[in-house]
Amino acid sequence: MQPSRRIRPRRAIALASVTALTLAVSTSAGTGRHTAGTLTAAGAGPVAALARSSPLGPCMISGRPTVQMSEGVPTTRGYSRSTGTVHALTVMVDFPDAPGQGHALDRFAEFFPQTQDWFRTSSYGRLDYRPRTPIRGWLRMPKSFHAYGIERGAPFDPGYRQLVQDIVASADPKVNFKSYDFLNVLVTPNAGPSALDTVLSVSFAGNTEAPVADGVSVANASFVYSRQDDGSGSYHRTGYRVLPHENGHVFGLPDLYTAEGGSAVGHWDIMSEDWGANNDLLGWHKWKLGWLDPAQVRCAAASGTSEYELTPLAREGGPKLVFVPLDRRSGYAVELRTREGNDETVCRPGVLIYRVDADVDTGMGPVKVHDSQQDSGGCTRSPNVHAELSDATFVPGEEFTDSKRGVRVAVVGADLTGSYRVRVTRG
Ligand SMILES: [Zn+2]
Repeated sequence: MQPSRRIRPRRAIALASVTALTLAVSTSAGTGRHTAGTLTAAGAGPVAALARSSPLGPCMISGRPTVQMSEGVPTTRGYSRSTGTVHALTVMVDFPDAPGQGHALDRFAEFFPQTQDWFRTSSYGRLDYRPRTPIRGWLRMPKSFHAYGIERGAPFDPGYRQLVQDIVASADPKVNFKSYDFLNVLVTPNAGPSALDTVLSVSFAGNTEAPVADGVSVANASFVYSRQDDGSGSYHRTGYRVLPHENGHVFGLPDLYTAEGGSAVGHWDIMSEDWGANNDLLGWHKWKLGWLDPAQVRCAAASGTSEYELTPLAREGGPKLVFVPLDRRSGYAVELRTREGNDETVCRPGVLIYRVDADVDTGMGPVKVHDSQQDSGGCTRSPNVHAELSDATFVPGEEFTDSKRGVRVAVVGADLTGSYRVRVTRG
């Protein structure tokens, strides 16, 4: 049982438990499923080229092929590339029974330029995200919204397949699908229920059975519905954040929230909570996406004691991530989180330690943050932010211990530039 103060208000629970379920429609994740003619180019920069024989090899954990969307490094093929210039074909669609209200470009402006700014900041400029709107008005679907049978958890077949086919057919005269890396579908907000009732937003990522357009497969597509308005009055600042979350899926990132909500990772990653105040991605996700160089990641695989420097994750340059592998599938990640960049609610700057398990699927808890201050209630006062884990970080003088696995991580100091030192001891 949890103490009552930790139970979120009903409105927050509604957002927490239903946001943006990913259906990674990758039937047989793994090898040989990626055929020529898919518009997605796999590979996340430096990670993909890294050999398992490198010093980082023991930290390149991977899941079994049955895992649909894994935290493994490198990311399996089939997703959109996440470095360099990516072109997002962005269409605003409406329906005969839910005609778009106002200008379609106003719907676009609910997400841009904030989404591209968010990615530029989070990626240290490595992801140059270019939304493109070759169709500037509402793209009218031939069937009613109701006819597609869209509801939370709806599979790709048959409704979404029909919707994608209808989008392709309607857009094709004006759009060459070969020119784009993935598809954003911004649905008119008056179609379907309010986000307070249910969140329909979804991505179909690495979809090997997607419809083909102009000779390329529409394998990576994000759909955004309604408005993610939590009623706190912050919609104009925070409502766009569902799109970077959904696009995280097209880049291969799994959901970190679980059936219990955000209690595994809290507000430390946009794949855990994409509402409330702005937040960044975990260092592990930045590594997975190719936004960190191998030199910025250290693999603490050997027994004994080693010390490492960490610079704030939100700041460009310097060492960012120490990984302590436990086996071929899992390990502990160690990084320094501060209140800057996309992290606007960090209330206890310090070293975040979390377990990553590449063998645990999306939405099942592939990442678990270790709480340095258990049952404290947390330090944040920001609305709609998971509070308990907001003070999970370790500060100088504190130590994380997993005695069963013989792992200790001590925060031994911080210097005036904002760097921290951690000491990892393995038995
Ligand atoms: Zn999601």
